[in-house]
Parts: sequence; structure tokens; C-alpha cells
Amino acid sequence: MPSNVETKEEGSLKIGILEVQGAFLEHKNALLKAKEKMKLPVQIETYEVRNPSHVTSSLDGMIIPGGESTTISLFLKRNNMIEPLRDWIQNRRHVTWGTCAGMIILAKQNENQKIGGQPMLDVMDTDVSRNYFGRQVHSFEAEVNLSDSFTQVCPGDKTYHGVFIRAPAVVQTLSPKVEVLATFTQKEKAEDVIVAVQQENIIATAFHPELTEDVRWHQFFIKRVLTNKTLP
Ligand code: GLN
Repeated sequence: MPSNVETKEEGSLKIGILEVQGAFLEHKNALLKAKEKMKLPVQIETYEVRNPSHVTSSLDGMIIPGGESTTISLFLKRNNMIEPLRDWIQNRRHVTWGTCAGMIILAKQNENQKIGGQPMLDVMDTDVSRNYFGRQVHSFEAEVNLSDSFTQVCPGDKTYHGVFIRAPAVVQTLSPKVEVLATFTQKEKAEDVIVAVQQENIIATAFHPELTEDVRWHQFFIKRVLTNKTLP
């Protein structure tokens, strides 16, 4: 094989996007835009993940987009994807990012679940409240505060314009492995609400960075994928 082809293959990042309820294109476009901004000499290839055969070790990263967590988790169960996905996520060379419903599905504990519970991936030491801001509050936009853990990777502004759609929040971290990446200061409450976290190779955001022009969260994810891909 000519060496330039080898270089190109080594230089490509393969990102799976769970394709149950839309947002595939938005995430794909944001990833490509982030890559352009970072002037990375790598290709980014995105793949739809819809059945267990799509969950392969050739993928470097995975995005679990928003939607309705009950629908997504039932889809995963019916298609026998819970175990393969959980195994894939637990390999530290793989980086997973859940947005909104994705944050709910990744959590070990959930408040306000539907009766009978929802099958979960159970991989993050977080307690997540499904509709933290209330069912009636369909959506809102607000500035979130970025922590040093985030700005050390993506230097710049300390705030980010978050789009929240029936959003969850992390009400409790269940182990010191969980690092807070962003909080939201709710005027009515004294405490800041945790709206983004990471635990080793897993990232979760309560808001939807694929719906804004600011691609810093996609840059953060790409950087993490690049780092973890080369771990022994
Ligand atoms: N609160 C929703 C749920 O329970 C998530 C909403 C979203 O992903 N935009 O699934």
C-alpha cells in the first residue's frame, strides 16, 4: 500500500453517531466545522449507529444525541445494543459524548424515571434528573459557566451559550471520578446547577451544542478523541 494512503488512514477519526431520533446531521456538520477551525490534518468520518454491527472497534468516538431518553433506551434494548454499546464505551481508547437524552442514558442513577424504569447504559457515576427544569419549560437559552477542566482544553471565553430543550441536569456526582465541565446559575436557586460533566473517556452535556454556531464543545470532543485514540 502506498505510504500516503497509510498516512491518510492513520489520520482519520471515525465517529459514530447514534441515529435513533435525528440530530445526526447537526452533529456531523458541527464536527466538520470544528475540524476546519482547528486546522487539523485529519479527516473526520461519521457513521450512523443503528444496530449492534455498527458498534465496532474501528470507531474512535461516539455521540449519543438528544431526543426522548425513553424512546432511545427502548430502541437500544429492542435492538440488543445495550451490552455492545456499554462494552464499547468502557474501552478507554473510545470517547463517548452524550447530549441531553444522551446524558440521561449514560447515568447510573436517574430521578423522575418513567414507571417501570428505563434500561440505561449505567456507565457514568452521576445522578441525573430527567426534566430538571420542569416539564413545562420546553426550552430556553442561557449562558453556562465553563470550568477550568474545559478551558484548559479549549482556551477562550469562560461562558458558552447553551440551548436547553426539556433538559436534564446532574443533581449529584456519585464518585470523585466525575469532573464538572459546566454549570448554570439559576436565579431562583442559591446553588449552581451542573450541566456538563466528564468521567475519564465519557462526556455528557445537558444542553445541545450542535444547535449553536459555537463549536467549542465539538472541538473539546475531537481533542479528547485524538488523545484517547493513542492510549496503549
Ligand atoms: N428530558 C428529555 C428526556 O427525558 C430529554 C430531552 C432532550 O434530549 N432534548 O428524554
